[in-house]
Amino acid sequence: MLKSYNFEIQVICPGCNTNHPVSSLLADETCENCGKELILNNLIQQSFETGSFTGSFIDRIKIMNGFLTGVFNNQNSSAGLGAVSEFKMMCWSHSADCEECKTPLDESDILDSISNKKPVFCRKCNHPMPVRPADEKIKQFHPKAVAVINDSKGFDHNPKDVDSKSKTIVFSCMTCGAGLKLDNHSQRLSKCSFCDNENYLPDAVWNRLHPYKEPERIYLILDLDESDLKETLDYFFTRNIFTNYLLLGIRNTHFSDFIGAYFASENGVFLSDSVKSWWKILLNSKYERTSKDENINMEIELATGIFKILYIEDVKDVFFSNFRNAYGKLNTELKEFIAGNIIEIPDYIRDLLSKDSAESVRLALEKNKSSEKQITPALKKEKKGFFGKLFG
Ligand SMILES: [Zn+2]
Ligand SMILES: [Zn+2]
Ligand SMILES: [Zn+2]
Repeated sequence: MLKSYNFEIQVICPGCNTNHPVSSLLADETCENCGKELILNNLIQQSFETGSFTGSFIDRIKIMNGFLTGVFNNQNSSAGLGAVSEFKMMCWSHSADCEECKTPLDESDILDSISNKKPVFCRKCNHPMPVRPADEKIKQFHPKAVAVINDSKGFDHNPKDVDSKSKTIVFSCMTCGAGLKLDNHSQRLSKCSFCDNENYLPDAVWNRLHPYKEPERIYLILDLDESDLKETLDYFFTRNIFTNYLLLGIRNTHFSDFIGAYFASENGVFLSDSVKSWWKILLNSKYERTSKDENINMEIELATGIFKILYIEDVKDVFFSNFRNAYGKLNTELKEFIAGNIIEIPDYIRDLLSKDSAESVRLALEKNKSSEKQITPALKKEKKGFFGKLFG
């Protein structure tokens, strides 16, 4: 099953103190403003694995395998002078979408592009997106990665011409008033060619020469099995989050943020094989709470704010309340999938599904109910018996 984990990465260039949008995963880049070499490789890995000031460790593979959404910040004050020390990375799970029309790219097209070393074309608007088959570096980052889409080091249709027509603006020298021609290669401290005096370019001029660039969306394509998804869920819901604040933070926000974004998507919910498996595993899973969990308050206060502890039941609640709120515009395929594959559906959802206008949804629910009754008590007990194991 293909699953995309998506990145938008921004770093502050230590040379010119401006935002630099990262265009390639795990590659070093050159600042377009000042030409400084930006060493990024380890930063991305570190931001994933360790809370910058708590020092807690987390398995990045598990984060990428899950359908999770969140932000990773890294302020590395121990970075040497001149090294990138400020780093912001938005990560989210969604299908890999066409950057022009937002239509999800076809999974078979993606696989075809990887094996034929060519860009992937959007089926709706024919826009090409560069594809970089997973190399050694990417495989080390995630052993099940198969490609990175929209990576500037990928196979492209027409390599993007990087602002080849540079914009020229005229600026009056602050000493002699002569017109100075400036472009994006001009220095912030520009010498007047008439009077030789130096002009420090004001922000308004500088920003026009270097307009803000949105970070590129980079899609890391993984080829996962169902067991990878199960292991991710086990990882997050059987570990002691009270000794690992990064783990706590992810359970606290990344699960529900993904669900919120999933149902809010303008193009409707996406239904890949991998996201269907995720819902099936997540909504059928049960985890016993440790006695430690039971004693602790639902909220925990850390230096960074108040965290509400999410348990698996809370995540399911978030799913079903979003499902209900979006019900009117949900596609039938998702309703049918939930009706047919989830063992414990809350009554208020069961009620909606049983009255759904689509017969296929009502039938799936009926069939699911009768299969539930057929589970023998012994089997049921065995399935529930293992701590931390999945129900379905
Ligand atoms: Zn720079
Ligand atoms: Zn398109
Ligand atoms: Zn001058």
